[in-house]
Amino acid sequence: MTVENEETTMTDDGSISLTRRSLLVASCICMGCAISGPLLAGVPMVRSESPEFYRLMVGDYEVTVLSDGKSPLAATKLLQGNPSIIADALNNNFLGDPVDTSHNSFLVNTGDRLVLIDAGAGSLLGPHTGRLSGNLRAAGYRPEQVDEVYLTHMHADHIGGLMSGSQPTFSNAMIRADRRDTDYWLSEENMRNAPAAARRFFEAAAASLSPYMKTDRLKTFDGLTDLVPGIRARPAYGHTPGSHDVRGGKPGREASAVG
Ligand SMILES: [Zn+2]
Repeated sequence: MTVENEETTMTDDGSISLTRRSLLVASCICMGCAISGPLLAGVPMVRSESPEFYRLMVGDYEVTVLSDGKSPLAATKLLQGNPSIIADALNNNFLGDPVDTSHNSFLVNTGDRLVLIDAGAGSLLGPHTGRLSGNLRAAGYRPEQVDEVYLTHMHADHIGGLMSGSQPTFSNAMIRADRRDTDYWLSEENMRNAPAAARRFFEAAAASLSPYMKTDRLKTFDGLTDLVPGIRARPAYGHTPGSHDVRGGKPGREASAVG
C-alpha cells in the first residue's frame, strides 16, 4: 500500500519520501539558516504554570475541581511499610520521594447557588499552595460570585484561602462549618492550653475566620445538615472534632467531597 499526499509518499515499508515540492521548501529553510541577517526578536518565556481545574457534571450540578497547589511530602510520612517496597511502588508509578500531594477544592454550581467546598491553604503552607483564586478565575468564575463556602474541617489547608492578605477572598460568601470545629478551633482557651507547636493552627483559624465573623458571615451547623437543596453535610468526626464530608447530586448520580 502507498499513501500519498501533495508533499510526502509513505511506502509499504513505512519509509517516507519527500516530493520535489517539499524538498524545495526544505532546502529553502536550510538556506535561510545559512544567510546572515536580522533575527526575529525573542519573546520572553511566560514561566507560569498552566491553570489547573477539571470540570464534570454530577446530575444537574456543574462541579469544577480547583487545584490550590501541591505540597511535597516525604513518602515515609505518608506510607508505612517496607521502604524498598515503597520505593519500588513509587518508581513503578513514575513517582519519586518526596511525593507531590494535591490540595483540591470543589466549586459547585447548582444553577442558582455557587458553592465552594474548602478554601485551600492560601499563604499558610508556604510557596507551593495559594493558587485556588487564580484557578477559580481561570475556570470562568470570580471569588465574589461565591455564595457559600463549606469547610469540611478547619485545618490550615482548608481555611487559609479564605483570606487574601488582609482581605476576605470571598467578599459575598457565607462560611459554613460544623459547630464542633468552630467551638474547638476558635476557642481562646483551647489555644492557650495547646502545645506550643499546635498553637499556630488555632491562630490560623482565628485569622482566617475573624473577618467573616465580624460581618456575620460565619454560620455553623450541627451534624447531618442539608446545606442547600441537594447538598448535605454528613458527620465524619475524628480527623477534627467537627470534620464531615459533603455529598451532593441526585439519586444514582451523587458525589462526595471528603476533606
Ligand atoms: Zn485535615
